[in-house]
Amino acid sequence: MSLVVQKFGGTSVADGEKILSAARKAVRAHQNGHQVIMVVSAMGKNTDMLVQMASEISEAPPAREMDMLLSTGEQVSVALMAMAIDSLGYQAVSLTGSQIGIKTDSSHTKARIQHISTERILSLLDQGNIVIAAGFQGIDENLNITTLGRGGSDTTAVALAAVLQAEACEIYTDVDGVYTTDPRILPEARLIATVNYDEMLELASLGAGVMHSRSIEFGKKFNVAIRVRSSLSDAFGSLIIDQAQTRELPVSGAALTPDEARISIRDVPDVPGTIYQLFLRLAEAKVTVDMIVQNVSDDGTADISFTVPRDEAEETFQALAPVVQALGGRMGKTDPDVSKVSVVGMGMATQVGVANRMFRALANANVSMQMITTSEIKISALVRRDQALSALRTVHAEFGLDTGATDTTSFSYEPTPQTQIDAADVIDRLQKTGMESLVIDDIVLDDTQARVTLTGVPNEPGIAAAVFDRVATNGIFVDMIVQSYADDRNADISFTVPAEQFDASLDVATKIQQEFECDGLNYKSQIAKLTVSGIGLRSHTGVAVEMFKALNEANINVDMINTSEVRVNVVVDGVQGQAGLKCLREQFASAMR
Ligand code: ADP
Ligand code: ASP
Ligand code: MG
Repeated sequence: MSLVVQKFGGTSVADGEKILSAARKAVRAHQNGHQVIMVVSAMGKNTDMLVQMASEISEAPPAREMDMLLSTGEQVSVALMAMAIDSLGYQAVSLTGSQIGIKTDSSHTKARIQHISTERILSLLDQGNIVIAAGFQGIDENLNITTLGRGGSDTTAVALAAVLQAEACEIYTDVDGVYTTDPRILPEARLIATVNYDEMLELASLGAGVMHSRSIEFGKKFNVAIRVRSSLSDAFGSLIIDQAQTRELPVSGAALTPDEARISIRDVPDVPGTIYQLFLRLAEAKVTVDMIVQNVSDDGTADISFTVPRDEAEETFQALAPVVQALGGRMGKTDPDVSKVSVVGMGMATQVGVANRMFRALANANVSMQMITTSEIKISALVRRDQALSALRTVHAEFGLDTGATDTTSFSYEPTPQTQIDAADVIDRLQKTGMESLVIDDIVLDDTQARVTLTGVPNEPGIAAAVFDRVATNGIFVDMIVQSYADDRNADISFTVPAEQFDASLDVATKIQQEFECDGLNYKSQIAKLTVSGIGLRSHTGVAVEMFKALNEANINVDMINTSEVRVNVVVDGVQGQAGLKCLREQFASAMR
């Protein structure tokens, strides 16, 4: 008999009527011959209310007690849901995370799932029950209640679907599915019929709050097809899967991370150990860092800037200040009023001229980009918060996300028997080692590229657009782009290109340097790009640190860095490529799958 998991978010169980309506959906699936597991979130804004209550009592409530408190929200809703099913004449049993046996580590308020017992659920299902599981919670080895982080019920749902090898995992929410951007921010956003896991991972971690990004990590690891749909209608919704219908557009979605802060470090030595020491401290402080860029000057020092969530800025500053001082550098001014605007799309990896379109559109809208980073399937620009909304609207329109027929054709997805067998094997292994533990798929060296850097680029809107317009017109395929932050010193723009296009790129860059009066030009005709790919690399803050540690021990200096959910890339000197590859393979040997 096939098994389906149906998850209902807070708004979908906000009152008695909505609980009954969710219960009817589960009963309908049951009548259609499925075994049904419901995963339920706390009612409405209940979790927010509990957080508020805690803050009225204490400025810094102990994390263990927060979990004790927050887990009650879900306990209320599972019990009410079971009553609702019972009132409809069907059998139901509600279970808390600990009753199911969702074992997590002990990091309260952001625990990771290690193991899920399936016996009790399976036997209740076999007895004809609809099983109602509390989302967002688990239990650690000392029987303490833990929670998975805000929005974590999605992760419970996909994890249960994975271990039980459910036929479907349906996420019922207050929107029709995954949109090109948050429809509450841009009403012109459109539904996306199918989204690839990697795209959804990026979108979720860049601000598309519709799915908890860790739930997508599970989906990808265990090949769970996830359907996001409205609890208010029978519309098909969106499918998140390992493939996506081919789209003509290079960009699939755009996202806004509104509350970011930029941290700047000035004048630290440009040697391998620097970046390692800084990131070790950041990982210890458990801050999630993004948009890491460095600006190397002729005197052997570097400026490093990166972004962190705004509410972690102060803590980050305090954590870093002593390390930076010991390194002989100083902390630059933190800017707490910045936002990150990103576009994401699988199509980008194979098309030329996506980045320059984004930069041109923003320049035309008079938005200035303080920093830029790109990875294979995303481009992020840091902008002033008061320009963020217009920046999002601009890029959304530029890539045609607000127009065109919305593809709502139902798309059925049948995993092949082969993937099911693989999933069983992976589940078995991960149940033993920790379901959410780090998985590294691959470590590769690309030594076919060159780097060009324009230094001292004047700080006016439109220059990045001009550079990459020119590069695209010349048919040059740009891979990584990094624009550093500049205040009193002008910005650097670095990009990597195929080595055979190095001469052409240098020509273009030389002309631009003269035309726009940039300070200088530096380049390497052969670089090595080292890529660690896996799942959840950014949420496992330690990955970048492990990379820097290994590279430091091998005495290899890092020129460029970019991070995404599925990859961390670093660029080093071309002659050090093989040595870099070797040390990274050794460093991650135990996490390779
Ligand atoms: P639930 O309580 O069901 O888990 P959430 O509030 O966590 O619901 O997620 C649904 C919300 O996510 C939507 O109301 C929408 O405003 C927001 N959202 C953000 N980005 C997107 C996106 N790209 N597509 C759809 N919804 C999005
Ligand atoms: N109730 C929790 C929250 O509000 C978990 C969830 O809804 O997914 O964050
Ligand atoms: Mg949610």
